[in-house]
Amino acid sequence: MERRILLDLFPEELGAWLADQGQPAYRAQQLFAWLHRGTPFAQMHTLPQALRQTLAESCVDLPMSLRQAFPSQKDDTVKFLYALDDQNLVEGVLMRYHYGHSLCVSTQVGCKMGCAFCASTLEGCVRSLSAGEMVAQVVLANRYLGQRGRVGHVVLMGSGEPMDNYDACVRFLRLINHPQGLNLSLRNVSLSTCGLTDGIRRLAQEGLPVTLSVSLHAPNDALRQRIMPVAKAYPMASLMEAVRDYVRRTGRRVVFEYALIDGLNCELSHARELAALLRSLQCHVNLIPLNHVSERDLRPAPPQKIRAFLEELQRLRISATVRREMGADIGGACGQLRRSHLPTQS
Ligand code: SAH
Repeated sequence: MERRILLDLFPEELGAWLADQGQPAYRAQQLFAWLHRGTPFAQMHTLPQALRQTLAESCVDLPMSLRQAFPSQKDDTVKFLYALDDQNLVEGVLMRYHYGHSLCVSTQVGCKMGCAFCASTLEGCVRSLSAGEMVAQVVLANRYLGQRGRVGHVVLMGSGEPMDNYDACVRFLRLINHPQGLNLSLRNVSLSTCGLTDGIRRLAQEGLPVTLSVSLHAPNDALRQRIMPVAKAYPMASLMEAVRDYVRRTGRRVVFEYALIDGLNCELSHARELAALLRSLQCHVNLIPLNHVSERDLRPAPPQKIRAFLEELQRLRISATVRREMGADIGGACGQLRRSHLPTQS
Protein backbone atom coordinates (compact mmCIF):
# COMPACT_ATOMS: atom_id res chain seq x y z
CA MET A 1 0.00 0.00 0.00
CA GLU A 2 1.28 3.45 -0.84
CA ARG A 3 2.17 5.48 2.23
CA ARG A 4 0.25 8.72 2.60
CA ILE A 5 2.19 12.03 2.47
CA LEU A 6 0.75 13.80 5.52
CA LEU A 7 2.23 17.21 4.60
CA ASP A 8 -0.34 17.25 1.78
CA LEU A 9 -3.20 17.48 4.27
CA PHE A 10 -4.96 20.18 6.29
CA PRO A 11 -5.72 19.51 9.99
CA GLU A 12 -9.38 18.68 9.13
CA GLU A 13 -8.20 16.02 6.68
CA LEU A 14 -5.68 14.62 9.16
CA GLY A 15 -8.54 14.58 11.69
CA ALA A 16 -10.70 12.40 9.46
CA TRP A 17 -7.87 9.87 9.16
CA LEU A 18 -7.12 9.98 12.89
CA ALA A 19 -10.81 9.53 13.77
CA ASP A 20 -10.70 6.23 11.86
CA GLN A 21 -7.86 5.23 14.17
CA GLY A 22 -10.06 6.08 17.18
CA GLN A 23 -8.07 9.22 18.04
CA PRO A 24 -9.60 12.38 19.56
CA ALA A 25 -9.94 15.49 17.34
CA TYR A 26 -7.19 17.54 19.03
CA ARG A 27 -4.55 15.08 17.83
CA ALA A 28 -4.92 16.49 14.31
CA GLN A 29 -3.69 19.93 15.43
CA GLN A 30 -0.77 18.37 17.28
CA LEU A 31 0.21 16.20 14.33
CA PHE A 32 -0.11 19.10 11.85
CA ALA A 33 2.13 21.35 14.00
CA TRP A 34 4.79 18.62 14.40
CA LEU A 35 4.83 17.86 10.67
CA HIS A 36 5.33 21.51 9.71
CA ARG A 37 8.16 21.83 12.19
CA GLY A 38 9.85 18.92 10.43
CA THR A 39 9.73 16.56 13.42
CA PRO A 40 9.95 12.84 12.57
CA PHE A 41 7.10 10.60 13.81
CA ALA A 42 9.38 8.97 16.39
CA GLN A 43 9.98 12.32 18.10
CA MET A 44 6.39 13.59 18.22
CA HIS A 45 6.36 13.13 21.97
CA THR A 46 2.89 14.51 22.66
CA LEU A 47 1.41 11.65 20.60
CA PRO A 48 0.92 8.18 22.13
CA GLN A 49 3.65 5.68 21.28
CA ALA A 50 1.23 3.30 19.54
CA LEU A 51 -0.05 6.08 17.28
CA ARG A 52 3.49 7.14 16.34
CA GLN A 53 4.13 3.51 15.40
CA THR A 54 1.01 3.29 13.22
CA LEU A 55 1.86 6.59 11.55
CA ALA A 56 5.41 5.48 10.77
CA GLU A 57 4.10 2.27 9.18
CA SER A 58 1.42 3.78 6.98
CA CYS A 59 2.39 7.41 6.39
CA VAL A 60 5.27 9.70 5.38
CA ASP A 61 6.35 12.56 7.64
CA LEU A 62 8.76 14.23 5.21
CA PRO A 63 8.56 13.18 1.52
CA MET A 64 12.04 14.35 0.56
CA SER A 65 15.50 14.98 1.94
CA LEU A 66 18.18 17.58 1.47
CA ARG A 67 20.75 15.80 -0.71
CA GLN A 68 23.26 18.63 -0.69
CA ALA A 69 23.60 22.35 0.09
CA PHE A 70 25.88 24.58 -1.98
CA PRO A 71 26.66 27.85 -0.20
CA SER A 72 27.80 30.69 -2.46
CA GLN A 73 31.29 32.05 -1.84
CA LYS A 74 30.16 35.50 -2.97
CA ASP A 75 27.01 36.17 -0.93
CA ASP A 76 24.65 34.55 1.58
CA THR A 77 22.84 32.52 -1.07
CA VAL A 78 22.62 28.72 -0.72
CA LYS A 79 21.49 26.39 -3.45
CA PHE A 80 19.75 23.19 -2.34
CA LEU A 81 19.49 19.90 -4.15
CA TYR A 82 16.57 17.88 -2.77
CA ALA A 83 15.92 14.18 -3.39
CA LEU A 84 12.27 13.13 -3.54
CA ASP A 85 11.21 9.72 -2.24
CA ASP A 86 11.04 8.39 -5.82
CA GLN A 87 14.66 9.58 -6.32
CA ASN A 88 13.74 12.48 -8.57
CA LEU A 89 15.76 15.61 -7.88
CA VAL A 90 14.56 19.19 -7.55
CA GLU A 91 16.37 22.32 -6.53
CA GLY A 92 15.78 25.40 -4.44
CA VAL A 93 17.59 28.61 -3.57
CA LEU A 94 17.71 30.24 -0.16
CA MET A 95 18.49 33.94 -0.28
CA ARG A 96 19.15 36.39 2.50
CA TYR A 97 17.73 39.88 2.13
CA HIS A 98 17.57 42.75 4.61
CA TYR A 99 13.98 41.70 5.38
CA GLY A 100 14.87 38.06 6.07
CA HIS A 101 15.23 34.66 4.45
CA SER A 102 13.52 34.00 1.13
CA LEU A 103 13.16 30.56 -0.43
CA CYS A 104 12.70 29.80 -4.11
CA VAL A 105 10.46 26.72 -4.34
CA SER A 106 10.13 24.25 -7.24
CA THR A 107 6.66 23.15 -8.32
CA GLN A 108 7.52 20.38 -10.83
CA VAL A 109 10.38 18.02 -11.66
CA GLY A 110 11.49 19.71 -14.89
CA CYS A 111 9.05 21.79 -16.92
CA LYS A 112 7.24 21.41 -20.23
CA MET A 113 6.96 25.08 -21.21
CA GLY A 114 10.07 25.10 -23.40
CA CYS A 115 11.35 28.66 -22.81
CA ALA A 116 14.47 29.11 -24.93
CA PHE A 117 16.74 30.38 -22.14
CA CYS A 118 15.74 28.03 -19.34
CA ALA A 119 17.64 24.94 -18.15
CA SER A 120 14.64 23.43 -16.28
CA THR A 121 12.78 22.59 -19.43
CA LEU A 122 15.56 20.80 -21.35
CA GLU A 123 14.29 17.30 -20.45
CA GLY A 124 10.62 18.22 -20.30
CA CYS A 125 8.40 17.71 -17.28
CA VAL A 126 8.91 14.44 -15.38
CA ARG A 127 6.06 15.00 -12.94
CA SER A 128 4.31 17.62 -10.86
CA LEU A 129 5.05 17.96 -7.15
CA SER A 130 2.32 17.55 -4.58
CA ALA A 131 1.52 20.38 -2.17
CA GLY A 132 3.28 18.48 0.63
CA GLU A 133 6.42 18.13 -1.47
CA MET A 134 6.47 21.92 -1.81
CA VAL A 135 5.85 22.42 1.93
CA ALA A 136 8.71 19.99 2.61
CA GLN A 137 11.11 22.31 0.76
CA VAL A 138 10.27 25.08 3.24
CA VAL A 139 10.48 22.69 6.21
CA LEU A 140 13.93 21.49 5.10
CA ALA A 141 15.16 25.06 4.55
CA ASN A 142 14.04 25.95 8.09
CA ARG A 143 15.86 22.90 9.40
CA TYR A 144 18.99 23.99 7.51
CA LEU A 145 18.74 27.50 9.01
CA GLY A 146 18.30 26.19 12.56
CA GLN A 147 19.04 28.99 15.04
CA ARG A 148 19.85 31.42 12.22
CA GLY A 149 16.18 32.08 11.52
CA ARG A 150 13.24 30.90 9.43
CA VAL A 151 12.00 31.27 5.90
CA GLY A 152 9.77 34.37 5.89
CA HIS A 153 9.30 34.83 2.15
CA VAL A 154 8.58 32.31 -0.57
CA VAL A 155 8.79 32.66 -4.34
CA LEU A 156 7.32 29.97 -6.58
CA MET A 157 10.09 30.47 -9.12
CA GLY A 158 12.00 27.22 -9.00
CA SER A 159 11.66 24.61 -11.72
CA GLY A 160 8.18 24.04 -13.06
CA GLU A 161 5.21 26.12 -14.12
CA PRO A 162 2.85 26.75 -11.16
CA MET A 163 -0.19 27.23 -13.40
CA ASP A 164 0.46 23.77 -14.90
CA ASN A 165 0.14 22.35 -11.36
CA TYR A 166 -2.54 24.74 -10.20
CA ASP A 167 -4.43 22.82 -7.51
CA ALA A 168 -1.30 21.63 -5.70
CA CYS A 169 0.16 25.15 -5.76
CA VAL A 170 -2.95 26.76 -4.31
CA ARG A 171 -3.14 24.03 -1.66
CA PHE A 172 0.53 24.69 -0.87
CA LEU A 173 -0.19 28.41 -0.40
CA ARG A 174 -3.05 27.68 2.01
CA LEU A 175 -0.96 25.11 3.90
CA ILE A 176 2.03 27.40 4.54
CA ASN A 177 -0.38 30.17 5.58
CA HIS A 178 -2.08 27.94 8.18
CA PRO A 179 -1.77 29.42 11.70
CA GLN A 180 -1.07 26.01 13.23
CA GLY A 181 1.74 25.35 10.78
CA LEU A 182 4.32 27.71 9.29
CA ASN A 183 1.90 30.66 9.53
CA LEU A 184 3.62 32.38 6.64
CA SER A 185 1.96 35.58 5.46
CA LEU A 186 0.88 35.25 1.83
CA ARG A 187 1.79 38.93 1.39
CA ASN A 188 5.36 37.60 1.49
CA VAL A 189 4.75 35.09 -1.29
CA SER A 190 5.15 35.51 -5.07
CA LEU A 191 3.89 33.13 -7.72
CA SER A 192 5.64 33.34 -11.06
CA THR A 193 4.06 32.18 -14.30
CA CYS A 194 5.13 32.14 -17.94
CA GLY A 195 1.65 33.45 -18.71
CA LEU A 196 -1.05 30.76 -18.69
CA THR A 197 -4.01 33.11 -18.71
CA ASP A 198 -6.63 30.61 -17.47
CA GLY A 199 -4.55 30.12 -14.34
CA ILE A 200 -4.14 33.88 -13.81
CA ARG A 201 -7.90 34.34 -14.05
CA ARG A 202 -8.54 31.50 -11.61
CA LEU A 203 -5.94 32.77 -9.14
CA ALA A 204 -7.55 36.22 -9.19
CA GLN A 205 -10.64 34.62 -7.64
CA GLU A 206 -8.97 32.62 -4.86
CA GLY A 207 -8.80 35.59 -2.47
CA LEU A 208 -5.11 34.96 -1.74
CA PRO A 209 -2.95 38.09 -1.28
CA VAL A 210 0.05 36.68 -3.18
CA THR A 211 2.05 38.77 -5.64
CA LEU A 212 1.65 37.62 -9.21
CA SER A 213 4.85 37.65 -11.28
CA VAL A 214 4.57 37.28 -15.02
CA SER A 215 7.59 36.21 -17.06
CA LEU A 216 7.20 38.49 -20.05
CA HIS A 217 10.69 38.77 -21.59
CA ALA A 218 9.43 40.51 -24.72
CA PRO A 219 7.19 43.51 -25.51
CA ASN A 220 5.32 41.96 -28.46
CA ASP A 221 3.96 38.64 -29.72
CA ALA A 222 6.46 38.08 -32.55
CA LEU A 223 9.50 38.33 -30.29
CA ARG A 224 7.88 36.59 -27.35
CA GLN A 225 6.93 33.62 -29.55
CA ARG A 226 10.58 33.23 -30.56
CA ILE A 227 11.71 32.70 -26.97
CA MET A 228 8.58 31.36 -25.26
CA PRO A 229 6.52 28.74 -27.15
CA VAL A 230 3.68 29.30 -24.67
CA ALA A 231 3.16 32.75 -26.25
CA LYS A 232 1.68 31.04 -29.31
CA ALA A 233 -1.16 29.60 -27.26
CA TYR A 234 -1.63 32.72 -25.12
CA PRO A 235 -1.16 35.89 -27.16
CA MET A 236 -0.09 39.11 -25.47
CA ALA A 237 -3.51 40.77 -25.73
CA SER A 238 -5.23 37.99 -23.79
CA LEU A 239 -2.36 37.81 -21.29
CA MET A 240 -2.51 41.54 -20.56
CA GLU A 241 -6.28 41.34 -20.29
CA ALA A 242 -5.97 38.59 -17.65
CA VAL A 243 -3.29 40.57 -15.78
CA ARG A 244 -5.46 43.70 -15.73
CA ASP A 245 -8.30 41.57 -14.39
CA TYR A 246 -5.95 40.25 -11.66
CA VAL A 247 -4.97 43.78 -10.61
CA ARG A 248 -8.61 44.90 -10.64
CA ARG A 249 -9.83 42.03 -8.51
CA THR A 250 -6.96 41.83 -6.03
CA GLY A 251 -5.83 45.45 -5.90
CA ARG A 252 -2.29 44.14 -5.95
CA ARG A 253 0.60 45.31 -8.07
CA VAL A 254 1.82 42.81 -10.65
CA VAL A 255 5.51 42.18 -11.29
CA PHE A 256 6.83 41.54 -14.80
CA GLU A 257 10.05 39.57 -15.18
CA TYR A 258 12.14 40.57 -18.18
CA ALA A 259 15.44 38.77 -18.80
CA LEU A 260 17.71 40.89 -20.98
CA ILE A 261 19.20 38.72 -23.73
CA ASP A 262 22.00 40.05 -25.90
CA GLY A 263 20.94 40.94 -29.42
CA LEU A 264 17.33 39.92 -28.85
CA ASN A 265 15.14 42.00 -26.56
CA CYS A 266 17.32 44.71 -25.00
CA GLU A 267 17.21 47.66 -27.41
CA LEU A 268 15.78 51.03 -26.37
CA SER A 269 12.98 50.47 -28.90
CA HIS A 270 11.99 47.37 -26.89
CA ALA A 271 11.99 49.39 -23.68
CA ARG A 272 9.67 51.96 -25.29
CA GLU A 273 7.36 49.26 -26.62
CA LEU A 274 7.29 47.68 -23.17
CA ALA A 275 6.49 50.99 -21.52
CA ALA A 276 3.59 51.53 -23.92
CA LEU A 277 2.28 48.02 -23.23
CA LEU A 278 2.35 48.54 -19.46
CA ARG A 279 1.12 52.13 -19.36
CA SER A 280 -1.56 52.76 -16.72
CA LEU A 281 -1.08 49.29 -15.24
CA GLN A 282 -0.23 49.01 -11.53
CA CYS A 283 3.02 47.11 -12.01
CA HIS A 284 6.76 46.81 -11.50
CA VAL A 285 9.33 45.52 -13.98
CA ASN A 286 12.10 43.29 -12.72
CA LEU A 287 14.97 43.32 -15.19
CA ILE A 288 17.08 40.17 -14.96
CA PRO A 289 20.55 39.88 -16.47
CA LEU A 290 20.19 36.53 -18.28
CA ASN A 291 21.91 33.68 -16.50
CA HIS A 292 23.96 31.96 -19.15
CA VAL A 293 23.01 28.29 -19.56
CA SER A 294 25.70 26.38 -21.39
CA GLU A 295 23.21 24.28 -23.42
CA ARG A 296 21.58 27.45 -24.71
CA ASP A 297 23.20 29.80 -27.16
CA LEU A 298 21.87 32.93 -25.49
CA ARG A 299 24.02 35.50 -23.72
CA PRO A 300 23.24 38.18 -21.16
CA ALA A 301 22.98 41.76 -22.38
CA PRO A 302 26.06 43.84 -21.51
CA PRO A 303 25.77 45.98 -18.34
CA GLN A 304 25.60 49.30 -20.21
CA LYS A 305 22.62 48.06 -22.24
CA ILE A 306 20.90 46.89 -19.08
CA ARG A 307 21.42 50.31 -17.51
CA ALA A 308 20.15 52.13 -20.61
CA PHE A 309 17.07 49.87 -20.77
CA LEU A 310 16.33 50.57 -17.10
CA GLU A 311 16.73 54.31 -17.50
CA GLU A 312 14.48 54.39 -20.54
CA LEU A 313 11.71 52.59 -18.63
CA GLN A 314 12.11 54.93 -15.68
CA ARG A 315 12.10 57.97 -17.94
CA LEU A 316 8.76 56.71 -19.29
CA ARG A 317 7.52 56.45 -15.68
CA ILE A 318 7.50 52.68 -15.45
CA SER A 319 8.60 51.41 -12.03
CA ALA A 320 11.60 49.15 -12.71
CA THR A 321 14.71 47.73 -11.05
CA VAL A 322 17.49 45.37 -12.04
CA ARG A 323 17.44 42.17 -10.03
CA ARG A 324 20.56 41.64 -7.98
CA GLU A 325 22.51 38.68 -9.24
CA MET A 326 22.77 36.20 -6.41
CA GLY A 327 24.41 32.84 -6.32
CA ALA A 328 25.84 33.21 -9.82
CA ASP A 329 28.73 30.95 -8.81
CA ILE A 330 26.46 28.08 -7.70
CA GLY A 331 24.34 27.52 -10.81
CA GLY A 332 21.71 30.06 -9.77
CA ALA A 333 19.66 29.75 -12.95
CA CYS A 334 16.59 27.62 -12.94
CA GLY A 335 17.35 23.93 -13.44
CA GLN A 336 21.13 24.15 -13.79
CA LEU A 337 21.96 22.31 -10.59
CA ARG A 338 19.59 19.40 -11.09
CA ARG A 339 20.84 18.90 -14.65
CA SER A 340 24.41 18.69 -13.47
CA HIS A 341 23.32 15.82 -11.18
CA LEU A 342 21.22 13.82 -13.62
CA PRO A 343 22.78 10.39 -14.24
CA THR A 344 23.02 10.95 -18.00
CA GLN A 345 25.01 14.11 -17.45
CA SER A 346 27.92 12.60 -15.57
N1 SAH B 1 7.54 28.79 -14.86
C1 SAH B 1 7.50 29.99 -14.07
C2 SAH B 1 8.37 29.95 -12.84
C3 SAH B 1 9.75 29.35 -12.95
S1 SAH B 1 10.98 30.23 -13.85
C4 SAH B 1 7.80 31.20 -14.91
O1 SAH B 1 8.08 31.03 -16.08
O2 SAH B 1 7.70 32.30 -14.42
C5 SAH B 1 11.39 31.58 -12.80
C6 SAH B 1 11.93 32.80 -13.53
O3 SAH B 1 13.28 32.56 -13.97
C7 SAH B 1 11.13 33.15 -14.77
O4 SAH B 1 10.97 34.54 -14.86
C8 SAH B 1 12.05 32.63 -15.87
O5 SAH B 1 11.73 33.23 -17.08
C9 SAH B 1 13.41 32.96 -15.31
N2 SAH B 1 14.55 32.27 -15.91
C10 SAH B 1 14.63 31.00 -16.31
N3 SAH B 1 15.85 30.73 -16.84
C11 SAH B 1 16.56 31.87 -16.75
C12 SAH B 1 17.87 32.26 -17.13
N4 SAH B 1 18.71 31.40 -17.72
N5 SAH B 1 18.26 33.51 -16.87
C13 SAH B 1 17.42 34.40 -16.29
N6 SAH B 1 16.17 34.11 -15.92
C14 SAH B 1 15.73 32.86 -16.16
